[in-house]
Amino acid sequence: MALSSAKKTTATTLGVTLAGAALAACGGQQGTQAAPVSSPSPTPSATIPHQTRTGTPPATSSPRAPSARPTRSSPSATSSATVPSDDAPGGHRVSREIQHGLEDGGKAVALTFDDGPDPHWTPQILALLARHHAKATFCEIGPNAQAHPAVVRQITAAGHRLCDHSVHHDEHQSSKSADYNRHEILDARQQIADAAGPGAEVPYYRAPGGDFKPWIREIAAGHGMRPLGWTSDSDDWKRPGAAAIVHHVNANLAPGAIVLMHDGGGDRSQTVQALSQLLDQLDAQHYTYSFPGR
Ligand SMILES: [Zn+2]
Repeated sequence: MALSSAKKTTATTLGVTLAGAALAACGGQQGTQAAPVSSPSPTPSATIPHQTRTGTPPATSSPRAPSARPTRSSPSATSSATVPSDDAPGGHRVSREIQHGLEDGGKAVALTFDDGPDPHWTPQILALLARHHAKATFCEIGPNAQAHPAVVRQITAAGHRLCDHSVHHDEHQSSKSADYNRHEILDARQQIADAAGPGAEVPYYRAPGGDFKPWIREIAAGHGMRPLGWTSDSDDWKRPGAAAIVHHVNANLAPGAIVLMHDGGGDRSQTVQALSQLLDQLDAQHYTYSFPGR
């Protein structure tokens, strides 16, 4: 099976390769599929240049990665795909509805960071959050977590939360088989949990590209992970400049907002710069920092 060959690939190689792939893909469908209250203008993903992360080899340096991608199943098979309730041992069912709200009321926001962890950028974001006593949720790609467990533990030790962002960041998961989807979602959860260590929780699932078909959400919810949406898209992955990133966040900022940013998938220097400004602003506006509802 394709997935088992992926598992044999060294974690570091796979993580790096996926991080590069994630950058090109990440925002393509997100604004249109999972953020009904955010900007209505869809993102033309075809205009996004593929750029690899600083200091990482191009994707072609990992010849095994392409073969690790499972083959597509036929449209007829996927259109009728249904996933029965299959609670994992020790898991607990949660709502499969996409969460767009926070755990706490009041003037709070939830900051979320996708596509990491990244050994260069994530610690910088953690340092900023610590300086502002802000908590956040990190939606991690499984092999990236596997490659950088120390960063994952740094995240949980600081009191932040973890979220499953799949194994391959495949934005077209729903066009593939239920079995493929189960592996994408549940293998990543296991990789993240293993990296975080005993007792770690992964209470959310954020579908790559917002591919939140009901039966995909059912897999996550059946294993204790609440599908996690967002309400304020920073579009930081496009690297529009720090000022533009802050502007994008503010366009949909309100008490209860879930802000989408990225700590992985490419050069995140603009994100770090924007986050610094944003935290100053949020503090000045007397916002508090919360988590998405579970
Ligand atoms: Zn992503």
